[in-house]
Parts: sequence; C-alpha cells; structure tokens
Amino acid sequence: MPKTTPMSPRKRIALVAHDNKKSDLLSWARYNVGTLSRHDLYATGTTGGMLVEELGLEVKRLLSGPLGGDQQVGAMIACGQLDALIFFWDPLEPLPHDPDIKALLRIAVLYNILTACNRTTADFVVSSPLLSSDYDRVLPDPSSVIRR
Ligand code: PGA
Repeated sequence: MPKTTPMSPRKRIALVAHDNKKSDLLSWARYNVGTLSRHDLYATGTTGGMLVEELGLEVKRLLSGPLGGDQQVGAMIACGQLDALIFFWDPLEPLPHDPDIKALLRIAVLYNILTACNRTTADFVVSSPLLSSDYDRVLPDPSSVIRR
C-alpha cells in the first residue's frame, strides 16, 4: 500500500507569479477571491503583496522569488506544509532564479501536490469539489529514490 497523507477541506495553497504573469494571476484570484479566502494562503513576496493590497486576502508572505522565495515554497512542500501550488511562471523569458524555479516544479511533482501552472488548470483546480474535501495524497515511495 502506498503511504498517504491527509489533506483537509481547508487547503494550504501557495501562489507564485512571475512579473509578466502577475496580472493574469491577479485577475484569476479576483474572480475566485471567495473560494481562495476559505483556504490558508502563502505567496512569494511581491505576489503576496499584490494579493493583500488589491484583493484584501489574508496571505502569509515569504521572500521574493529571486531572493529565495521559490526555495522557501519548495522546502514547505518537502516538509508537508503545503497542499497546492498555483505557479504562473513565465514561459517566454529567462529569469535569474531559473534553477530555483526548476527545483520548485520538481519538488511539487515529486510530492504529488496539486500544481497549476496556467489559468485553465487553475480554473479546473478551483472548481473541483476535491478542493474543499478531505483527500488522501499519495507520498513518494522512499525505496524508489534510495540508490543502492
Ligand atoms: P515574487 O516572486 O512574487 O516576489 O515576484 C515570484 C518569482 O519570481 O518566483
């Protein structure tokens, strides 16, 4: 049997948007502000500031992405402190913290958390009944990553 961890109806959601995608994220969050307000929200510095100031959401702000915020989000995922990642990354521009972005995406997939990297996926995520339900998330199998 795979090992699982419970996700409660109140999800712990991290939101991250690169500069060219911030207006997309803001518009998506504005449309879904009621749903988002029923969950525990975390965000990288500038993204979080935008959500607080523009929408009045309660958001725990981490460091800005280029200053280590993406790594903080990744560490929270690895430590079991997040259930979902809404990450509007910029597919058209290289960024100084590209290694951190790749690491964050890797860790989100490894730990099998809910991950949306564009608006359509985020729309499907936010409208899923599972977002506000109990859910048992399968964890990575340590035996598959330990090299012999
Ligand atoms: P920011 O970071 O929210 O501080 O802009 C996002 C990022 O660049 O990863």
